[in-house]
Amino acid sequence: MRKLVFASGNPGKIREANEILCGEFEVIPAAAAGVTEDIPETGATIEENSLQKALYLYERTGLDCFADDTGLEVEALGGAPGVHTARYGNPSGKDFEANINRLLREMEGIENRRARFRTCVTLILDGERHFFEGIMEGQIATQRRGNGGFGYDPVFLPDGCDGLSSAEISEEHKNAISHRGKALRALAAYLLGCDV
Ligand code: IMP
Repeated sequence: MRKLVFASGNPGKIREANEILCGEFEVIPAAAAGVTEDIPETGATIEENSLQKALYLYERTGLDCFADDTGLEVEALGGAPGVHTARYGNPSGKDFEANINRLLREMEGIENRRARFRTCVTLILDGERHFFEGIMEGQIATQRRGNGGFGYDPVFLPDGCDGLSSAEISEEHKNAISHRGKALRALAAYLLGCDV
């Protein structure tokens, strides 16, 4: 089976990608291809970050590979936190609680709560670059709701979910509507030559 290296070590992400690729490609973590260090993400946009991570892998392994990068873009904040999403509340680490606290603070008293998650995927296949995108539209809640998910899920209310937060819907439902699910399905549709 053809292997694809994913610029991630997150078992959940690797599993989701393997499921979406329907056994036609084997998705393996970066470490399994010998890249065990943190892959730099110093780009000014999420597009740049996903390209940077994919190129980093390709230059070190020469293998077909892909990388994803996600940002939360809040309309009333001019698209912030955007590329700074992971470290919004605490520049030194991925601190989900601090991120939500800062977001709720910044959004205090703001009526327009429209926001979206956007994932960019860069695939490098036979040395050629390909780009895919997935978007989940919704609103920022005024307080936390639910215990599931991760990251900003307790304060993100996806459109079409009756006011439930991403932390209150099932993992299957979330994967079906999420930015990352959509970007990975666009990647899979390209690789498999059909809609998935
Ligand atoms: P990454 O590029 O997948 O590492 O995502 C960057 C950051 O966006 C994460 O650290 C989370 O804070 C946030 N994030 C990404 N996807 C989701 C999601 O599905 N729900 C909530 N937060 C997310």
